[in-house]
Amino acid sequence: MPETLEFKAELKQLLHLITHSLYSDREIFLRELISNASDAINKVRFDALANADRLEGNTDWKVKLTPDPAGGTLTVSDNGVGMSRDEVVQNLGTVAQSGTKAFLDAARQAGKAGEAPGLIGQFGVGFYSAFMVADRVTVVTRPVGSAPADGTRWESDGQGTFTVEPAEKPARGTDVVLHLKDDAKEYLDPHRLRGLVRKFSDFLEFPVVMDVEEEKDGKKEVAEETLNRRKAIWLRNKSEVTADEYAEFYKSISHDPDPPAEVIHYKAEGKTEFRVLAFVPAAKPLAFDWEEPTAGLRLYVQRVLIMDRCEQVLPFHLRFIRGVVDSADLPLNVSRELLQQNPLLDVIQKSVVKNVLDTLAGMKDAEYDKYLTFYKGFGPVLKEGLTRDWANREKIADLLLFESAGTEAGRFTTLAEYVSRMPADQAEILYLTGESAEVLRRSPYLEAFRARGRDVLLLTDPIDDFALPGLGSYRGKPLKAADRADTSPGDPVGEGLKEGFVKVLLFIKETLTEMADVRLTSRLTDSAACLVADGPAVSARLERLLGRMGRDVGDARRVLELNPGHPAVRAVRELHDRDAADPRIAGYARLLYEQAVVAEGSAIGDPVGFAARVNDLIARDARTALTD
Ligand code: ADP
Repeated sequence: MPETLEFKAELKQLLHLITHSLYSDREIFLRELISNASDAINKVRFDALANADRLEGNTDWKVKLTPDPAGGTLTVSDNGVGMSRDEVVQNLGTVAQSGTKAFLDAARQAGKAGEAPGLIGQFGVGFYSAFMVADRVTVVTRPVGSAPADGTRWESDGQGTFTVEPAEKPARGTDVVLHLKDDAKEYLDPHRLRGLVRKFSDFLEFPVVMDVEEEKDGKKEVAEETLNRRKAIWLRNKSEVTADEYAEFYKSISHDPDPPAEVIHYKAEGKTEFRVLAFVPAAKPLAFDWEEPTAGLRLYVQRVLIMDRCEQVLPFHLRFIRGVVDSADLPLNVSRELLQQNPLLDVIQKSVVKNVLDTLAGMKDAEYDKYLTFYKGFGPVLKEGLTRDWANREKIADLLLFESAGTEAGRFTTLAEYVSRMPADQAEILYLTGESAEVLRRSPYLEAFRARGRDVLLLTDPIDDFALPGLGSYRGKPLKAADRADTSPGDPVGEGLKEGFVKVLLFIKETLTEMADVRLTSRLTDSAACLVADGPAVSARLERLLGRMGRDVGDARRVLELNPGHPAVRAVRELHDRDAADPRIAGYARLLYEQAVVAEGSAIGDPVGFAARVNDLIARDARTALTD
């Protein structure tokens, strides 16, 4: 008796979505099933490196398609690793991918089921795509190293439950039998299947075969036809591969629905030989932010797939790159752990990094709009490299784009352009960090810099507060935050002026105990006050970020700077000179501080008190107006 089991909750939702979507691209089910079959063969080949005897001579690697018009079924068979009963239940009854929940949420947000199918293609739901074309799927499988009686039959209509029962299976591997829906009978047509295999799996290293009837001397004979050309695409010459073939291969390894922006394909020759085929995505795929962040390229040794994501050949900050590395110079018969210590992997990484960075630079120069789309998605990831890859940091810095106080909104400048525009007497590259360029453009910190013809880069990625100090300098010019105490644009405030403010500053400082200091500044032209970071203090933006993460900035208090030329500041001073005990001065001091907090885009600690203080001013000013 078959045993009936339920799918896990998330999978149920997923299946519902798949079966109820009129998925225009449903033909991708074949790519997904063939790719699973090929993974299974790769797995058993890898297993055989240590346990050759378990193959039992069954090494004629292939994926077989069997359309059966009479039964209305299409079967995809492989002689790969197979599955035990427990593995079938685990692998086909639950969803392992961590991003599935996020996928479902996004699909729900996409609202109409009509939009969800596009997401399916992007996400790659693997085996379950079978239910787009089949109303029932039967899987008969038997794992490597088992006997014919050890097989398992799994079956489901994709509605919430599946059954499992023991089954006899003569050969190791897996048969996936699709009971095709009435509107999916086209997948019984050998012609259609041939076309799809060419489209999706031409580069696959294992043959995808199908039995065909041939007329020979008037008699019908059955022959096995290989449907794919099989030459691993990365082993072919660049000149022999078409853009479409690259794009199909890229899609198959990335699940990105768009063709790549750039293809990096080369063979390294010299002391060691290896081949690289890597892709730069056109834009950030939807799933990029959901998925576990992993970096790496597929690693093949002598065309045997060793690892899906080999981290040693691709640094983390280039994790948007997808691709393959194949080297015949790596040892095949060692464990993955030992292999990962092989120094050749470092040589490969160096070469991959150089080629990727050069490709990005070329793209930026030759196809700026394309680069911009790429950069808007992956710029923040790339910036991680400023602190991670010391040797290449200037090369990475050259790839960065920034808005600046001097550029039009939505336009970008590079560091090189910024430096070339610096006035002769400007020694430092200035930047200001915050949540939006729009707010930063109006920041009081820019006033005096602007007045002196200095541009300031406006940085809005959360990582900027770490990445830019990490870079330190560019072409010998130090990078400086415009809101730090030691980055002052103007001449120091004159001694005579300072003299007159000593007493009132002391009073304000005693009132505002949260300030490390209260000083005069020449940084401001129009505004009355601003806050700057001094010594250990962090920037306002970083303070906000840390605050949101529940971290305390501790003793890193900031400095309140006042514009001695501003009428409000002057008036407070005069009032204090006349009557230091006037109770209103403390309120004015607090307002000077609070307006600086508001201007930098932070939240004030006591908004209700702030409102009361402002209302007080309005009431008094309006009264004065009445007597005018
Ligand atoms: P993915 O391939 O992305 O992991 P799938 O939903 O396509 O997800 O498949 C789930 C799991 O089922 C696979 O990871 C694999 O372990 C197993 N599986 C699927 N097809 C086969 C097959 N033909 N042979 C062996 N195992 C398979």
